[in-house]
Amino acid sequence: MSTIFTKIINKEIPATIVYEDDQVLAFNDIEPQAPIHILIIPKKQIATLNDLQIEDAALVGQLFLTAKLLAKQMGFDEAGYRTVFNCNADGGQAVYHIHLHVLAGRKLSWPPG
Ligand code: 5GP
Repeated sequence: MSTIFTKIINKEIPATIVYEDDQVLAFNDIEPQAPIHILIIPKKQIATLNDLQIEDAALVGQLFLTAKLLAKQMGFDEAGYRTVFNCNADGGQAVYHIHLHVLAGRKLSWPPG
């Protein structure tokens, strides 16, 4: 089932896109939880981490490599950042199209709530 992120991929609704290639899209979160809060998503529709298949391994790797690239380009690689995938209800997932959160720009606490 498609989500709001499919509409962002298809440019049917606006988003501040910070990176795009043929497989991956990255854009600013509409409700940022840190000064920098980017969502990195595959263009392929995958609902949750539970739905990943072995053939998706390289694609998931691309999400992390995009996080690394953006951290370098945007200059928060050395200060640090957090990457998060939420899965299903207890993980706090609200949009059922996998997305890697990248949070930066402030000291993040641990453990998360
Ligand atoms: P989740 O809770 O599923 O891990 O995270 C979903 C994220 O998507 C949330 O941080 C939420 O703010 C963000 N989000 C939901 N709808 C939109 C939207 O229409 N545009 C953007 N840019 N972010 C969205």
